Amino acid sequence: MDRKEAVKRIEDLTKELNHYNHQYYIENVSEVSDFEYDQRLKELQDLENKFPELAAANSPTKRVGGDITKKFQTVKHDFPMLSLSNTYSEEEIVEWENRVKKLVPGKVNYVCELKYDGVAIGIRYENGALVQAVTRGDGTQGEDVSANVKTIRTIPLKLKGNYPESFEIRGEIFFTLDSFNALNKLRELAGEELFANPRNSASGTLKMQDSKVVAERGLDCFLYGVYGRDLPAEGHFESVLNAGEWGFKIPRVEKKYLKKTDSIEGIMEFIHYWDEHRVDLPLEIDGIVIKVDDYSQQEELGSTAKSPRWAIAYKFKTEQASAKLEVVTYQV
Ligand code: NAD
Repeated sequence: MDRKEAVKRIEDLTKELNHYNHQYYIENVSEVSDFEYDQRLKELQDLENKFPELAAANSPTKRVGGDITKKFQTVKHDFPMLSLSNTYSEEEIVEWENRVKKLVPGKVNYVCELKYDGVAIGIRYENGALVQAVTRGDGTQGEDVSANVKTIRTIPLKLKGNYPESFEIRGEIFFTLDSFNALNKLRELAGEELFANPRNSASGTLKMQDSKVVAERGLDCFLYGVYGRDLPAEGHFESVLNAGEWGFKIPRVEKKYLKKTDSIEGIMEFIHYWDEHRVDLPLEIDGIVIKVDDYSQQEELGSTAKSPRWAIAYKFKTEQASAKLEVVTYQV
């Protein structure tokens, strides 16, 4: 492709991806499967790598998909809430792991987790009490949905044990498949349009103005990351286990939802296990997340404007391709 053709293709892809982002993050509608979306994004990234002078500062490759609706108070994040770089290829996981080993000295441990297909939340606690819950928004600022988050029973309002005085915990809000099906059954009986999938309905529900309706719908949450200045842990794995002690619902090691490993074989074993067993889970996942465990190694690896270099998501291709065109628009 010559430069002139690249200009046109970049313009088209940017327009298309911005449209899908708006539909996905604001309207809660997926017009294409995640796999197709990610293919377009990769094509744009490849073109920008080839013609760096054509890469716009606000390209979809550089921005965290945002959803500031102005329905709630906007809040700036203490720590940016980034996206995750992702791949559908095992070879690229191997390449990422090799890169990490080269960039940080010493032994590297990895934490493997499920990639819950819901909506991200950051919740701040002061002296053991929930003070504010904010959506990811554009990564720099999000929306204060505290009233709705406080209705989620698995999110503690008061902590127990030996928690830090001030910290933020991040996680994913989702509907279990049972709750999602029950919700749709009620809508069917009421003659209302059905929700397309658990992810989009969780996202829409979290942004509702009436917390009573949110409470009735029964959202759930898994917590997967603790952020703060003086955390009582050297790394991510220990932090997640600590959060369990403080009363949070965390992914359990004994259920194989969480695993620490020091090898690519250990990572692959986790990926293959969940590729086979994800259908047995009570909730939808769209992949696996692999994170460097040690906080000082994470810091050394740092982040791009869009995603941390110390983590990567492996996404399941078949699920994504078959999820195509589940388009339902609904009012929340
Ligand atoms: P992402 O879904 O690739 O990954 C980041 C998100 O993963 C985090 O914000 C968090 O919410 C979630 N997550 C789940 N489990 C996690 C765990 N264990 N640890 C850390 N994070 C975890 O990124 P994104 O920026 O939210 O979305 C981009 C992706 O969304 C695209 O790659 C595409 O697949 C999809 N998308 C699809 C469409 C569409 O039209 N189909 C449009 C826009 C985006």
